[in-house]
Amino acid sequence: MSPTRARVARLALRPTIGIDIGGTKVAAGVVDAEGRVIDRAHRETPSKSKSAQVVEDTIADVVAELAARHHALAVGIGAAGFVDGTQSSVLFAPHLAWRNEPLREAVHRRTRLPVVVDNDANAAAWAECRFGAAQGESHVVCVTLGTGIGGALVLDGVLHRGRFGVAGEFGHMVIVPGGHRCECGNRGCWEQYASGNALVREARELVVNGSPVGHRIAEACEGDPRRITGPMVSELAREGDPAAVELLEDVGHWLGTGLANLAAALDPGLLVVGGGVSDVGDLMLGPARTSLRRTLTGRGFRPEAGLSRAALGNEAGLIGAADLARRERLRRRDRAKLVTTRLLLPRRMSTHSTPVSHNPEHTSGTAIDPGVPRRTNGNRRRTSAT
Ligand SMILES: [Zn+2]
Repeated sequence: MSPTRARVARLALRPTIGIDIGGTKVAAGVVDAEGRVIDRAHRETPSKSKSAQVVEDTIADVVAELAARHHALAVGIGAAGFVDGTQSSVLFAPHLAWRNEPLREAVHRRTRLPVVVDNDANAAAWAECRFGAAQGESHVVCVTLGTGIGGALVLDGVLHRGRFGVAGEFGHMVIVPGGHRCECGNRGCWEQYASGNALVREARELVVNGSPVGHRIAEACEGDPRRITGPMVSELAREGDPAAVELLEDVGHWLGTGLANLAAALDPGLLVVGGGVSDVGDLMLGPARTSLRRTLTGRGFRPEAGLSRAALGNEAGLIGAADLARRERLRRRDRAKLVTTRLLLPRRMSTHSTPVSHNPEHTSGTAIDPGVPRRTNGNRRRTSAT
């Protein structure tokens, strides 16, 4: 083994730190080369302290804590917001006071570690492709159902971020022209119909209208519709309440319709659905599969994409951010291009017989590298639509 290759191999064994920044907390973990979280740290970001400075302080603090216990190689940050195509600045974050925030430089200055920044949905999708529900798939669309819909796409084993770094905002595809008003300013966006917010809005409407159908939901919230939450409706559905089951079926229906649109545009092999609302499993994914099949263009005459629930839960973001940081660090170290030229899925696992090569100098994509070991995930939950 050449000295360069040996050095890259040694670096590849070191863990990286992944950070997931939400609206109210910073979750961090030390992640090994096989995607296992070997240490964790959390910080709250008080709601009145969402200034860039306070969040950066929090990140630096949590990195310092973990770096004191582990010889970390780099830091990856997954942030809810638009991240520029060079993975260095947050252009806009809806829940934080970040506008054109040069986060990579700011965190690097404080931690002295190499840093990459990516959108949280990209990070989560990357984790599912490398270590979770989409292992071995070359063409994957991931959607995360939370209050809205987060999305990301991996095509030909490459994470696609778009020309300006902001691809994957599937939640704002207009699916019902003139429909419900969205926070983005438009009407009828997909996330107004297939998300935790949609579920809660519809449940509230049942209770506000005094519908006898919604009596169990009204009991659960003690008559106050403002107290209705997504998990409350999901729990009632699990207990068999017909109204709650129906509400989840509606969300599933709209989810499948939107996924069929994505399948028509992108032809993925697998659609992965994650996020809190997906915890109800087949209560929602069953109707989603039915709707996907009914709406898919060319149905009956084409192979259908599988539909799976995400496998890595709410740590997917930090696992993916850590792995993206590892890849970037190794790519920069690897002057012999050992990393950048080995980019493709094992051929037997790819849906295409002719892999397409990828040059990271020409796009903002990140590619799956079979040279780094994959984790075998015992908890992998995988069901197929076919
Ligand atoms: Zn919208």
